[in-house]
Amino acid sequence: MTQKRRLGIMGGTFDPIHHGHLVAASEVAHFFSLDEVVFVPTGISSHKPDQKIAPAEDRYLMAVIATASNPTFSVSRIDIDRPGRTYTVDTLRDMRALHGPDADLFFITGADALAKMLTWHDTDELFELSQFIGVTRPGHQLADPGLPNGRVSLMEVPALSISSTECRDRVRAGEPIWYLVPDGIVQYINKRGLYRDPAA
Ligand code: ATP
Ligand code: MG
Repeated sequence: MTQKRRLGIMGGTFDPIHHGHLVAASEVAHFFSLDEVVFVPTGISSHKPDQKIAPAEDRYLMAVIATASNPTFSVSRIDIDRPGRTYTVDTLRDMRALHGPDADLFFITGADALAKMLTWHDTDELFELSQFIGVTRPGHQLADPGLPNGRVSLMEVPALSISSTECRDRVRAGEPIWYLVPDGIVQYINKRGLYRDPAA
């Protein structure tokens, strides 16, 4: 019998992608023996529908630039190519349809996103479609009393107190984001003039 493929899914707005995302994915890939981690930038986020975010194509390309050198990382367009808001259940259904029954899915999520997720209705289908790995994130509590039967694992990762919000604020204020994000992302943001608009 061949082993099932172990596929990590790292969903996010990635506006922009930063080293917190990359370390989380790398740690989970190693400790859960994943064959691949697919980064999936959201279309219009169902959690941030009113927030002004960078164009999907820019967020997608930044994810590609940041992950290009890692042979186990890849980037998917499934969420940005699906019309309407992005819901995690659609991401997982599409990934399941794409990869078939021979893959086990592991959805990777930070402590803040996991805590929110557990408050959603109808999480049953989510937990049928995928396992969930919650990783520590500075400033957010990971422990949750109501973790459903074995489908959620918690994992401590090296603490990186970096958020995309802070990166955007820094660019807007003319402050450096070197070493918070990969070099190529600093350059891409400069080249495209992202996050400079004070109204954005
Ligand atoms: P924003 O500030 O715009 O919300 P963000 O930094 O939270 O951006 P997201 O794209 O919202 O980034 O997050 C995608 C996923 O990565 C989420 O599951 C989030 O919890 C996780 N994540 C983000 N930053 C970190 C970090 N520094 N450490 C661990 N996990 C993180
Ligand atoms: Mg966030």
